[in-house]
Amino acid sequence: MQKPSTSDRDAHLNPFAFPSETDIRFLLLVLAIAGSTMILVQALIGIFIESTLIAFPSALIVTVSLFVIAWHQARQSAAKTIEVNKWQPFPPQKADLLQSALFQQMDRYIQQTVANVSELASEKIQFIWDETSRSSTLPTGMAFGFGKQQYVCLRQGLHEAFIQFPESPTFQSVLMHELGHIANRDVSKTVFATSLGQCFFPIAISSVVVFTVYTLWAVCDRLVKGITLDPTQPGIREIINTNIKIIILLLIVEIARASILRVREYYADARARNWLGTSTTLTQFFLEQLEPSPQKNSTLKNKHQRGRLYVWEFLEQQFRLKLAPFHPTHHQRISRLENPRHLFSLSYEVALLAGFLSGVSLNANMIIFSIFTELSNFNSQLNQSVQAANEPTLLVILTILLFFALTLVFSAIFLAVFVVFGLIPIVGTVGLQIQQAAFADCAQPTQPRLLTLQRLMAVSLVLGTGFILGCLLSPFIHALSMRTSEAAIPWFGIFGLAIGWAGVFFIWIVSIARLAKSLYLNHAESSIPRQKRRWLTRLSGFLLFPIFLWMCMVQILFGAQAVKPDLFSVSALVIGCMISGAFAFVLYGIIWVVGWNIGSARGWFRNPQCPHCNSVINNQSGLLQNCHECDRSITSWAWLPLPVSLPPPPSLFVPVLDTPPPL
Ligand SMILES: [Zn+2]
Ligand SMILES: [Zn+2]
Repeated sequence: MQKPSTSDRDAHLNPFAFPSETDIRFLLLVLAIAGSTMILVQALIGIFIESTLIAFPSALIVTVSLFVIAWHQARQSAAKTIEVNKWQPFPPQKADLLQSALFQQMDRYIQQTVANVSELASEKIQFIWDETSRSSTLPTGMAFGFGKQQYVCLRQGLHEAFIQFPESPTFQSVLMHELGHIANRDVSKTVFATSLGQCFFPIAISSVVVFTVYTLWAVCDRLVKGITLDPTQPGIREIINTNIKIIILLLIVEIARASILRVREYYADARARNWLGTSTTLTQFFLEQLEPSPQKNSTLKNKHQRGRLYVWEFLEQQFRLKLAPFHPTHHQRISRLENPRHLFSLSYEVALLAGFLSGVSLNANMIIFSIFTELSNFNSQLNQSVQAANEPTLLVILTILLFFALTLVFSAIFLAVFVVFGLIPIVGTVGLQIQQAAFADCAQPTQPRLLTLQRLMAVSLVLGTGFILGCLLSPFIHALSMRTSEAAIPWFGIFGLAIGWAGVFFIWIVSIARLAKSLYLNHAESSIPRQKRRWLTRLSGFLLFPIFLWMCMVQILFGAQAVKPDLFSVSALVIGCMISGAFAFVLYGIIWVVGWNIGSARGWFRNPQCPHCNSVINNQSGLLQNCHECDRSITSWAWLPLPVSLPPPPSLFVPVLDTPPPL
């Protein structure tokens, strides 16, 4: 294989130098489930007990337990899958000598392949044989497992594909793709995501049931007592409203979960293409799969003829097809294989989900504000008892200490909620994608740009709209809500808020793109700039903090003004927001300057030196692969690694083929 040179227009950037979109979406799902569980449990407890001091910690305990149970389930799922399906280790024991020899050959080939791939060196992969499941005759495989136990299931049909190898691309494509999942370390995440979903749905469904039962009970109670239903009607509407919003929340969680399964396929394909050194094998395989299989068509026809597609089935099917497909189509996979820069581009879906999640979870968890009132009540009670006591000195000191300790704990919790539910869903997803895209743009300036001004504006607007939607669709009304039963910000006001959020996100996104460009373009080393990436991610969190907090405050104040118009006049509100905004942006500027100085002091923004001949490298016209002085590789982290040397295709001894050999 020839080493790609700088002038090579086909040189591809290494998508594995950054966290993959699978990782980003996994983070989104974890936050979505954590946030939703907190929301639902607090609301459920809220029906019976009014105290936030009880509801919030209980919700936290339930959420943590949910994750522990899901982790436990994920750990056991591989063993369970093997046991239930009666799968056996590969190669299977066969009485037939010829067959047995063929299996041995296949096993040898697979083991040699694994041994040649450096990314799999630290993995202990067990191969499993499936000739029992219903789909076992298909030439497919499946990577599964959790943590250190990684398995690849090989289906019976793959053995036939091995016999036709290397004439047919099927065997190699499937094997490399499944190994790609393991090298990408997405198997554990997928299993954990599935377990999380399984643990979360019972909680979600039972909350819907409890709310509905509670409403019905309230209505019946009123009917029995002869109270007119009229005053309860807004209440009923509120509960129906809540139920719809909970269902939307459930759908969002499911969309996030399915998207992990979908996106990881692109990365497994990318890994396989990288090892093979070409996309032809995989593309050819997908093209073969595109030919309509007669079996599929007939089952579809049968279903239509019988007319047994019920409404529910239809809705479920449409949701799966349109909003939450588990698998990308072959066409989508081919197009990603042919243009790997896709893996660096921004995803509007991620931006929308991230904004939505941030809005919905931050709003719901703003309930901890009310802990503060409870704390001050508690304090005044303590004060009274102190005054009643005979020897107050020690007690006074203790009370003050306790109050300070509680305030400190409260502030820490408030900060944690703000960071975990407000900032991380945005910084860890859209922020990371901006870093990658900015890097891809400046590394290959001749390629079509990923971050055009238009796209930056669009992604900010999507983020802002997502946030506002999250606040509007939050099932329970708290600080950030804009439309409550009592009063509402008019729709043009909400539109204005969305624009405000988009503006805040735009400024933030442009700064990250600028910092990422300087940071990654000057990284002339063989190892991935992991430390720099973490630093920039943390810095982008700090940068977002003041302006995000300010925008939240603006939203809360306008909401309060809508509920109580005589609280303060609109003009006073606008002036107040402008002054505090100026303060927030000054703080933003200070953080930016401090960040820039720290990066400069570490020499991260300077033109780098060649590690071999120490000549200064000029990266103005894009990322150089080789030093212009000594011509040795300087930025190997950024480019796709060289393909692996695969074992020679096996020379099979006259197997009995039931298909004619290809011409
Ligand atoms: Zn796959
Ligand atoms: Zn050099």
